[in-house]
Amino acid sequence: MNSCKTCKVSLEESATIYTDYFQVHGEGAIVYTLCGQCYLKEVKKYLEEVKPLCACGAPEVLYFGDDEEIIDMAIHEGLLNLTCSVIYKGMQEDKYTDEELEELSNHHTIDSMQYIRWYTDEEMGWV
Ligand SMILES: [Zn+2]
Ligand SMILES: [Zn+2]
Repeated sequence: MNSCKTCKVSLEESATIYTDYFQVHGEGAIVYTLCGQCYLKEVKKYLEEVKPLCACGAPEVLYFGDDEEIIDMAIHEGLLNLTCSVIYKGMQEDKYTDEELEELSNHHTIDSMQYIRWYTDEEMGWV
C-alpha cells in the first residue's frame, strides 16, 4: 500500500500518483506518491513556482478545467496537460475553428502533455 507524501492517507495502486515534481530536478530526482487532492495542490505550486511559459511568452495554464480529469491523467497516463493561457481564453470563448487551432499550435502550446516524472529511455521503451 502506498501513502500520500503530503497528507499520509493510504492509497490503492489505482489511486496513486507518482511524480518527481514535474521533472524540474531532472534525471534521478526522487519520485514520491501523492493522492489526487494533494496532487492538485502540487500542480498549483508548480505553476506558481516554475511558471512554465508558452513560446509566445504567456504563462501556461491547466488544459483541463475539471479536477477529476487532471487527476485521472496523472494516475493512468502520468501526464500533466498544459496549454497557453491566451489560447485557453479563446477556447473558452469558442473563438477558434479546428483549422485555426491547428495553425495556432505552430506558435503556441496547446495541450502539452508533459510527463510528471522523469522516465529513463528504458522505461519509455526507446531502447
Ligand atoms: Zn494527500
Ligand atoms: Zn501562447
